[in-house]
Amino acid sequence: MSRARIVRTGIAASVLGVALILAGTSYLAWRLVLQHTAERLETLVRLASQRADETFAQAASALRELNRSPLPPCSVEGIEEMRLVAIDTLAVKAVGYVEEEVFVCSSWGLTDRGIQRWPAEFRTREGLGVSVNVPPFVAPAKPMLSLQDAAFNLLIDPEHFLETSLAPGVSLALGTPTGQWLGKPAAGFAQVLTRIHGEPQTALRDGYIYTRVAHGNWQTVAAVSREEMLHDLWRELLMLAPLGLLLAGLWCWAVERRVSASLSPLAVLTRAVANGEFSAFYQPILDLRDGRCIGAEALVRWRRQDGSVVMPDRFLPLAETSGLIEPITSQVIATVCRELGETLASGQLQHVSINLSARDIASAAYLPHLTRERQRVGIAAQAIWLEVTESSLLSIDAAHRTLAQSREAGHPIALDDFGTGYSSLQYLRRLPLDLLKIDRSFVQSLSAGTPCPVTDHTIAMARQLELLMVAEGIETDEQLQYLRQRGVQYGQGWLFGKAMPLDEFLAYIAGQTWLAAS
Ligand code: C2E
Ligand code: MG
Ligand code: MG
Repeated sequence: MSRARIVRTGIAASVLGVALILAGTSYLAWRLVLQHTAERLETLVRLASQRADETFAQAASALRELNRSPLPPCSVEGIEEMRLVAIDTLAVKAVGYVEEEVFVCSSWGLTDRGIQRWPAEFRTREGLGVSVNVPPFVAPAKPMLSLQDAAFNLLIDPEHFLETSLAPGVSLALGTPTGQWLGKPAAGFAQVLTRIHGEPQTALRDGYIYTRVAHGNWQTVAAVSREEMLHDLWRELLMLAPLGLLLAGLWCWAVERRVSASLSPLAVLTRAVANGEFSAFYQPILDLRDGRCIGAEALVRWRRQDGSVVMPDRFLPLAETSGLIEPITSQVIATVCRELGETLASGQLQHVSINLSARDIASAAYLPHLTRERQRVGIAAQAIWLEVTESSLLSIDAAHRTLAQSREAGHPIALDDFGTGYSSLQYLRRLPLDLLKIDRSFVQSLSAGTPCPVTDHTIAMARQLELLMVAEGIETDEQLQYLRQRGVQYGQGWLFGKAMPLDEFLAYIAGQTWLAAS
């Protein structure tokens, strides 16, 4: 994934995460409001229904007492008794007595206004007749509940059932199971009441959340309006805001850490290895005696997905310290065998050399892979030289073991950058080597006719070790002549050709460009 894409993904993940956290927090706040409201309503409705039941029980007992009374109903004593019932029974506002369905007296005294008793709309289980919302004698504008037993009649103020100290936005109603409500519920609430008949116990409807409880002959409904709930929601959101902000902050921090980690050089290199972005360029190696291109050095190149090519000095140090060098070596081996298999098998090219790192030498894991790959395309082991530098031979025993194994398998071993390390001659003599590659730094100081003691000494050392020589970094004809005169067999350098991709290299050996030019 490219850098820009990782950053874009990180930003998208942050925005999405924060949006989800905010949505989740809001949803949680809403659920809490619903839960608290439902609990509040539940408590309220239970209290109200309990109070209503108690009130009806008191009224029924008062009616029974009046019916049992030996006093003549509309006598002075009888009216006094009715008055006492009205005063003593909290919810009862008035008591009346009927003869042939017409009120003849009440707790207020005798009456001859010929007021008809209201027909009972339903009867309770105890046999009491009930009329809801009847106009009382004194203040007909305020509807009352009428309770009847035989000739006696009680008027009960519906407000008594309903909490007078309700919290703002809370409504309460008491009604019959058939949906006749006592008193005058407020307009919006009345609308809800018309539609909740037989609905579940707690629900949301028409902007109200309500709780309904059926008890005895009655049902009680408590409800809270949408405005009140929104008010509660804001309060809940304010309480949850620190948690939401903390979670959003943690999420952004985690995303930022992840993005930074994905953009670290190691993560980028790890992805490149996983994507198989490593291949090889080939630099021609010539036989200095006749000027023929007899081989090539495979030099690793990181071809990024955007097409750019990264040089080894930019990534090899990290690859070596992180251990990623081993899969990179594997990719180079696979590339070389795939790309040069035919050319080597046909003899057009005698060899290709592959560079190994300290970790490759220490583990020796490259060898079975190399054997498998070269055998698959029919390359002889002799055609693949292995280059090691002095710095990659840290553990002399492990190096000895690995190089001996490779040599036994048929691979010639070259000591790269020879002369730049500090190994003693004795030390080098113990290693199973075939070639020395004279380092570019020595070659570049050469000019024809001027002796260079250091290079001469290096060449002498190689001879003493009975090794073939490859001079690196030949850039001028003078350098070439100098090396030729001293019997250096092979050479590579910009004078002959830089490291190049496969198709250019194949064209190079087909045309033998350098020879033609010389
Ligand atoms: P090296 O193995 O000594 O390879 C020779 C380096 O010198 C190459 O650089 C090559 O392009 C450069 N060179 C060749 N001729 C000339 C010349 O005439 N003038 C100048 N100025 N430079 C010349 P490159 O490709 O950048 O590789 C650098 C080093 O990276 C290599 O040095 C080698 O140590 C390492 N390397 C390259 N490929 C691999 C690989 O596949 N595995 C491992 N472990 N190391 C590799
Ligand atoms: Mg090399
Ligand atoms: Mg070298």
